[in-house]
Amino acid sequence: MKKQTQAIHTQFQRPDAYSSLSMPVYHTAAYEFGDAVSMTDAFCGRTDDPDYSRVMNPTVTFFENKVRALTGATDVIALSSGMAAISNALLAVAEAGQKIVTSRHLFGNTYSLITGTLRRFGIEPVLCDLTDLHAVEQAVDDRTCALFLEIITNPQMEVADLRALSRITRSRGVPLMADTTLIPFTCFDARALGIDVEIVSTTKYLSGGATSIGGLVADYGTTPDFGRRMRTEMLFNFGAYMTPHVAYMQTIGLETLDARYRVQAASALRLAERLRELPAVRAVNYVGLPDNPYHDLARQQFGDTAGAMLTIELADRDACFRFIDRLQLVRRATNLFDNKSLAIHPASTIFGNFTEAQRRDMDIKEDLIRLSIGLEDPDDLFDDLKQAVSD
Ligand SMILES: *Cc1c(COP(=O)(O)O)cnc(C)c1O
Repeated sequence: MKKQTQAIHTQFQRPDAYSSLSMPVYHTAAYEFGDAVSMTDAFCGRTDDPDYSRVMNPTVTFFENKVRALTGATDVIALSSGMAAISNALLAVAEAGQKIVTSRHLFGNTYSLITGTLRRFGIEPVLCDLTDLHAVEQAVDDRTCALFLEIITNPQMEVADLRALSRITRSRGVPLMADTTLIPFTCFDARALGIDVEIVSTTKYLSGGATSIGGLVADYGTTPDFGRRMRTEMLFNFGAYMTPHVAYMQTIGLETLDARYRVQAASALRLAERLRELPAVRAVNYVGLPDNPYHDLARQQFGDTAGAMLTIELADRDACFRFIDRLQLVRRATNLFDNKSLAIHPASTIFGNFTEAQRRDMDIKEDLIRLSIGLEDPDDLFDDLKQAVSD
């Protein structure tokens, strides 16, 4: 069976008492045991009977198993948000005195986590140009606990060579940890690209219609003790496991993920081509455009689609604000890959509380609009974007 079929038809671990066709939502904190021996076996991990929903819940396990079928990961751990997935995964590999090698181009909260929060606990950020392999060779040393990156950076749209990075990190025994939120894992093979730990904000493509906040960590089994530490230490001690109701919604989203994504990515390409024809649009950044500097690499790594996020550059910040104010169909909102198309001016919102110097350092431009393309008819979307950019 193909992965997609497997993901749709993943079996419940145990038969449901009423033969429910959809996975029931097990809204319970705890589970009862018949005797002392089965209780100690569950608590000490000798059986996979759930004991407490902070660390295991049948509805969440079902969601995790579906993702495992699609990714081929050794284990998949569902968490309460993309940020919970990133912070828990990094804390599972890092110790005080060690370094995380990463890029200046990071999702805002990830940047703040690595350069602020984790630094307070003695974990040192090393910001490096990950498209410069020589610089990466220099940056990764025996104090490095992880190389962390986003597969397409948001909103700069930079793509690094994952196989080349993996050759460097594997030769030094350092895990390559990748936030793959910008391209669904149905489109590429993280293991073949050399990713050791894959992290996804499932709030985005996966949830389907922006129903809920969630995250996941896929462990490819190449980092000693990582998966075990996630389950037996991070879930227990930080308590950021996904809740059953969210897992239920995200399971439904997962079943239509690939179908929705293909439509959204096709619309994004069509719009990128048409937007660049408009005189008021100074640039369109989309790795699906053949003349984009990362087009070939993105194609080799992620296949023939390039995501449903694109950015446009207008004259200046005022032009961006006028554009946002004029939109009639596209919604003024953050988030990515809702069924509805969304627009935001990152510099004044997501990155609004960073200093100007920090924004410059992270290449967050004042004249840039980020668009997330939804499931509307692309002609209707183009009409709205066109009227919003014209003076
Ligand atoms: C949204 C996002 C996150 C954070 O995910 P949440 O689910 O909002 O916590 C992390 N990385 C990327 C690339 C994102 O787009």
